[in-house]
Amino acid sequence: MGANELLAELAGIGSTPSGGYSRLAWDPATMQLREWFVGQASALGLEVTEDGNGNQVAWWGHGPDALLVGSHLDSVPDGGPLDGPLGVTSALAAVGQLKAEGWQPTRPIAVANFTDEEGARFGVACLGSRLATGAIATDHALGLKDAAGDTLAEVMAARGRDPRRAGPSAWLADVKYYVELHVEQGRWLAPHHAPVGVASAIWPHGRWRLDFCGQGNHAGATAMVDRYDPMLTYAATVLAARELALDSGHRATIGRVQVEPGSTNSIPSRVTAWLDARAESGPGLENLVAGLIERAQVAARDDGTTVEVRAESITGAVDFDPELRHRLAALLDAPVLPTGAGHDAGILAAKLPTAMLFVRNPTGISHAPQESASTDDIDAGVDALVRVVRELA
Ligand SMILES: [Zn+2]
Repeated sequence: MGANELLAELAGIGSTPSGGYSRLAWDPATMQLREWFVGQASALGLEVTEDGNGNQVAWWGHGPDALLVGSHLDSVPDGGPLDGPLGVTSALAAVGQLKAEGWQPTRPIAVANFTDEEGARFGVACLGSRLATGAIATDHALGLKDAAGDTLAEVMAARGRDPRRAGPSAWLADVKYYVELHVEQGRWLAPHHAPVGVASAIWPHGRWRLDFCGQGNHAGATAMVDRYDPMLTYAATVLAARELALDSGHRATIGRVQVEPGSTNSIPSRVTAWLDARAESGPGLENLVAGLIERAQVAARDDGTTVEVRAESITGAVDFDPELRHRLAALLDAPVLPTGAGHDAGILAAKLPTAMLFVRNPTGISHAPQESASTDDIDAGVDALVRVVRELA
């Protein structure tokens, strides 16, 4: 089956009324997707394994120096159909095509479905690959809580997984290269008239939790001058984030907020917001976040509130293996572009030569239902992946 047909099979899983998808780690939708992955990979004659972190890996052959291809099947809440699934379906389609041609690899080939790439449930992106590579302390990861207050350990146990098996994964020692195909995020390939590109680097990025605290009180009985309203400090911080990111050419987003008590006729006592910040360089990111914290503190003093900032995850700049990148760009005659988004490939790049292929996204929209790629471009992505597998394996 081609990637377009495989994607069509996933259309009903975790779909939302807006036409998008909500597929969060270990939820019913991703459990269904995991089963689907096992079925598809098995039908291709691959041997499906699952490590202690929930990462699924389907093997064509065994032994060291394997070529790993794949991506993830989870999404952000109300995300699009392709961020993640395009890479997994393209990898399965490429393996299916090579097998049908009777081609024999010279090294093992494995297809990965990494768990919880988006970090939408437990707050840390690329949780599956971070655990597998040891990039996050296992105990810390297992103690992360979702919105319902359940820890990762509890959620995994409820799904029949033994959390004591979580942590650095032995199978990664058998992997020589990882190539992740992904839908383009942002709009670079369309103006360059290219269906497929090769990634150069991932910007450093991170997530910070901001807690603004004040005094909860009555919306009618409390004079405006007598208030200690954390919503004001929060609002000033959102505006400052935009201003600082614009001035520096970087990215800052506050896309998630919780208000206590969250009542229309109450001044809030606490506002918690999450900042996603990304920059071209590590120092650029540090400056952006330090500048924003300073602005938030100034606003808090003016408002008689407090602000506390805690980093939840920070990922340094990732430069994909230059030799591999040049080899693939030459092989595919494809342009090379940077990415502002994080990926499992960025986590694995610290351990082994890693590359990414991007498939043109005509609107550039991602993490939203409108994310798209044409069926022709999806076929072109599989074609590129087939050539890459032939070249490397
Ligand atoms: Zn992704």
